[in-house]
Amino acid sequence: MPDSTILVVAVPAPLRQGFDYLPPTGWEGPMPLPGCRVRVPFGRRQVVGMVVDVRAAATVERRRLRHVGTVLDSEPVLAGRDLDLLRWAAGYYHHPLGEVVAAALPATLRQGAVAQAGGETRWRLTAVGRAQSAGSLTRAPRQAAVHAFLIDSGNSGAGSAVLAELGGDWRGALRALARRGWVETFTATSEHYGEVLALTPRHALNPAQQVAVEAIGAVDGFTPFLLDGVTGSGKTEVYLHAIEQAVADGRQALLLVPEIGLTPQLLARIGGHFGKRPAVLHSGLADGERLTAWLAARDGRADVVVGTRSAVFVPLARPGLIIVDEEHDPSFKQQDGFRYHARDVAVVRARAEGVPVVLGSATPSLESLHNANRDRYRCLRLPGRAGDAEIPVVELVDLRSRPLQAGLSATLLEAVEQELAGGHQVLIYLNRRGFATTLICHDCGWIAGCRRCDARMTLHQARARLCCHHCGSELRPERRCPDCGGEALNPLGQGTERLEGVLAERFAAAGLVRIDRDTTRRRGSLDAKLEAVHDGRARLLVGTQMLAKGHHFPGVTLVGVVNADAGLFGTDFRAAERVAQQIIQVTGRAGRAQHPGRVLVQTHHPEHPLLQALVREGYHAFVREALEERRLAGLPPWSHLALLRAEAVREEVPLAFLDAAAKALPAGQTDGIEVLGPVPAPMARRGGRQRAQLLLQATKRERLQRLLSVWVTALEKLPEARRVRWSLDIDPIELF
Ligand code: ADP
Ligand code: ZN
Ligand code: ZN
Repeated sequence: MPDSTILVVAVPAPLRQGFDYLPPTGWEGPMPLPGCRVRVPFGRRQVVGMVVDVRAAATVERRRLRHVGTVLDSEPVLAGRDLDLLRWAAGYYHHPLGEVVAAALPATLRQGAVAQAGGETRWRLTAVGRAQSAGSLTRAPRQAAVHAFLIDSGNSGAGSAVLAELGGDWRGALRALARRGWVETFTATSEHYGEVLALTPRHALNPAQQVAVEAIGAVDGFTPFLLDGVTGSGKTEVYLHAIEQAVADGRQALLLVPEIGLTPQLLARIGGHFGKRPAVLHSGLADGERLTAWLAARDGRADVVVGTRSAVFVPLARPGLIIVDEEHDPSFKQQDGFRYHARDVAVVRARAEGVPVVLGSATPSLESLHNANRDRYRCLRLPGRAGDAEIPVVELVDLRSRPLQAGLSATLLEAVEQELAGGHQVLIYLNRRGFATTLICHDCGWIAGCRRCDARMTLHQARARLCCHHCGSELRPERRCPDCGGEALNPLGQGTERLEGVLAERFAAAGLVRIDRDTTRRRGSLDAKLEAVHDGRARLLVGTQMLAKGHHFPGVTLVGVVNADAGLFGTDFRAAERVAQQIIQVTGRAGRAQHPGRVLVQTHHPEHPLLQALVREGYHAFVREALEERRLAGLPPWSHLALLRAEAVREEVPLAFLDAAAKALPAGQTDGIEVLGPVPAPMARRGGRQRAQLLLQATKRERLQRLLSVWVTALEKLPEARRVRWSLDIDPIELF
């Protein structure tokens, strides 16, 4: 009997429970299965949720329940193991399932559009339509909205499923635009995954690559691999061959890359290897494109799926292999809302699907190396460079009591001069954008701090602004010191903008390019700069970690790391690991045949044991030292962390919540779990809010998980919880 049924629906709301609904009034169709979307009344709103369970109702509760408004799917949009993965993630990260579902679905599906692939009729702007400015439609707001929408969806256009988001009479507006000749219809070929592309010639694999590819191909079922290969050792080539084996077996492969790693070059390389386009999933896509790619993955039309973080949740019809490239990259961890780690989810998913998973990096995370050391992961090594390039030599430059020019030592400047004179390229790395770290008053020592954060404001000289990189506040710098009225306000510390000024003046003929977030905001500007480097017009590169990832600069024979010290004494226990990874990654951009090149790392602490290990013996020696330090301190990967954060405008409020939270820890379940805090966060004020945290440190993951399940429910009921914003971060990568 249909009306004795209750549908448990996960709705996108910050509540860790499913909500019970009755089927739509007068519903006679088959009951929607778990994984079907429904529109339901929730409070005063209508929201799109997902059925996650169907059960029999007791008569009493039925009277109090509301009805589902609309059933949106006749078939689940995702089901089986794909839905189970979301359930697992909601459980492990102690995050509401409805929000997990929302994070995993393409925007159009989240909003309730039909789950229908391209191959559909779509609309796009004609050349005339594209040339129109938004202002020309001010008298026809609905047409203006459709026009703006179609500008955003570009050449791939938008179908009715997507346009319906605009609401109202969007069809009428489209017809009006078509009459003006601004809009045309076409049939989208979602099947372009089958389109045949020209193949690029292949390298013969070297023996180490061969061993790796065969090892991955030989396993049947879940096996985690760590592909540990220096930069340029041919890891990507190994991925492509491993993917090929999976595809030849009739399976799909999922390749996850860091945000910055999904370059046109990588996509071209995949296309050239397989003669087919991969399905691509990342946040920069138009909604329609994203839906088409997602459905092509789910329905098995695309053999190869490439994506950033959230693609780890994409359903696959016939999964065969999961690869995580640059697995150490922090962009795999979502830092707000649903705080999951895509690499960790990938491993759990591979186990559930019974497929191999490959984590690749030149600088694997301490977590993954620890797992390899304990034989939980099978380690595959690529020890040398694939081509004939050689790995450069790293040297430390002792900065103590040397004269510096904008933070650059004479040793480094002379080396730059020499390489440029030899016709080579040089890369100067500094992971701090802006002109100077801050402004300081020479008369009284006043420092330009942010009014809303416990942080200094960075000086951006070209824009004449002081900016806070934490909350986004901006000010015009004062002419006089606000404390003493003095006029000697001086920039303190270096950013890439300042380096650019000094270097461009001294090496005027080198064609300097600066690559950081400030110089690459406009679409296409990064590609234009990279182009100038590749064709040799630019021979001096200055930049932040945007340079340290994913790019090969074969002409670079000298890398200068301006400052290694920040990581040695950072407040976060992962600071040293990050700096070591950055140094090795940026080092990997240099070196070629006949000219291995040099890397100069400037530091005030040349004796520091971690730095010594890194330059003398390399990344793995550094890791041995760092793992030992972590072991002594009981830090991950030797322990497991959960961080409860709270913030509010008034200082005492978050601490009061955390005190209550600490008291609410279930008695008798805290064995083997250390409770640290509550304490103010390392940056106690950010964006005008006071922040505090409570850290749980456990030797056993299962124990921590068991405690958290009970605790989270208790936290939601605390009266103090209503006065703060709080969040729980499982396996946090920053204790900020
Ligand atoms: P990684 O992903 O480890 O940085 P890539 O796979 O991008 O390495 O390879 C680095 C360079 O070496 C690329 O230009 C690639 O075309 C080339 N390469 C890879 N494998 C081989 C091989 N077996 N023989 C010759 N060149 C290779
Ligand atoms: Zn002053
Ligand atoms: Zn700020």
